[in-house]
Amino acid sequence: MAKIIKAPRGTQDILGSEVYQWQFLEKLLRETAALYGFKEMRTPTFEEMALFKRSVGDTTDVVQKEMYQVQAEKGQDLYGLKPEGTAGAVRAAIENGLLKEALPLKICYITPCFRHERPQAGRLREFHQFGVEMFGSQSPSADVEVISIAKHIFDLLGLENITLSINSIGCPTCRAEYHKALKAYFEQYRDQLCGTCLERLEKNPMRILDCKSPVCSEIAKGAPVVLDYLCDECKEHFEGVKTRLKALEIDFEIDPNIVRGLDYYTKTVFEFISNDLGAQSTVCGGGRYDGLVSQMGGDQTPALGFGMGLERLLLVLKEQGIEIPAPEPCELYIGSMGEAANIKACSLAHKLRTEGFFVECDTMNRSVKAQMKYANKISARFSMILGDAELESGKATLKDMAGGEPREVSFETEQLAQVLYDANLAKMTDELAEQMGDTALADLMGFKG
Ligand code: ATP
Ligand code: MG
Repeated sequence: MAKIIKAPRGTQDILGSEVYQWQFLEKLLRETAALYGFKEMRTPTFEEMALFKRSVGDTTDVVQKEMYQVQAEKGQDLYGLKPEGTAGAVRAAIENGLLKEALPLKICYITPCFRHERPQAGRLREFHQFGVEMFGSQSPSADVEVISIAKHIFDLLGLENITLSINSIGCPTCRAEYHKALKAYFEQYRDQLCGTCLERLEKNPMRILDCKSPVCSEIAKGAPVVLDYLCDECKEHFEGVKTRLKALEIDFEIDPNIVRGLDYYTKTVFEFISNDLGAQSTVCGGGRYDGLVSQMGGDQTPALGFGMGLERLLLVLKEQGIEIPAPEPCELYIGSMGEAANIKACSLAHKLRTEGFFVECDTMNRSVKAQMKYANKISARFSMILGDAELESGKATLKDMAGGEPREVSFETEQLAQVLYDANLAKMTDELAEQMGDTALADLMGFKG
């Protein structure tokens, strides 16, 4: 036997048995973003490396250690697989002239992302992000609008124990002072910092705060805090964010240690953190990046956004026992015995499907017994078997797989469609009654099938 090739480490197959959870989530994400005026944008999976170096930052872990690079042919330029969604979105907004149209520009996306990290629960090498980006507004009301989308999503899903932490990391003006203070602080520990951080000390001392090495992160604990270095404008902006979060009754904590792992952030940064995720606790992270558009060659445009990890979101849902509704099973299985009956079964199934019903018939040439076993396995709502006798009479026995009385039906399309329709209506009525907690009321309203 040929050797089986396995999926690369840190990747996941999303199978038919679970894909409904993704579809449910994706629909909810897109629909919620739409309530805030965010339109979906799809950008390429790979971009020029220079795009990520200039935006995410060439001193970040993401670019220095985690990027996947692809080359079409030897000697050709290297491309990077997107490690996050913002860089491509910003590029596309500039390239397509979207920032010259009515502002604010609001976009969202669901995209695979690639980072070469050590795989563990909630940390993959290919994962998926839902992201929103908003361009053109420098008002704190934009920050709060973006934050409230994430909050809205968690509330819709019924998630609990998700804490919002916010911080401000200032603008280039206050950052200059802060960098000086940071540099002076870390200089004292020069002989203890890791090699990467020594480099960062020269180029980008704030990155040291994000270092995962135990020694560096211990030293970082005593570092000066950026909130103490904010200029008046940044202070006022941060106050504006806090006031509005309170007005929207969105609870938050201030965490001066959040710096985020990507270089482009300015002013507000935030994270939604779940207690249920262990070390990989950040479900959603984002912030402002007022300098990024101009850094990428566009006109100076304030902007902000977030990225939400979908694998982590699904993990939290699971941890909290929140079930995503499974799709309805097959409504009718049409079994058959013999060639003529199989042809009839196929054509009936075809007609009912074109009417919008979920119907299956035998395509495996199985025995009737095996067919019924299969119908059971797929949890078909009804089943019937066609043989010579049924073909002659035009009638068959419709079996209610949930244990209801079997009944004789003419297997003309209209009649079968009516039976399936009635069963659906009855089911909906039951569900509605259950939701209303009052069967009598449902009866009174005449819903009962
Ligand atoms: P972390 O601190 O967990 O490494 P991050 O700061 O690198 O996260 P961002 O770059 O802000 O994360 O990405 C936004 C979101 O994408 C994260 O909050 C998380 O939910 C998700 N995410 C990031 N990296 C991974 C990964 N390797 N696997 C799965 N999800 C991820
Ligand atoms: Mg990371």
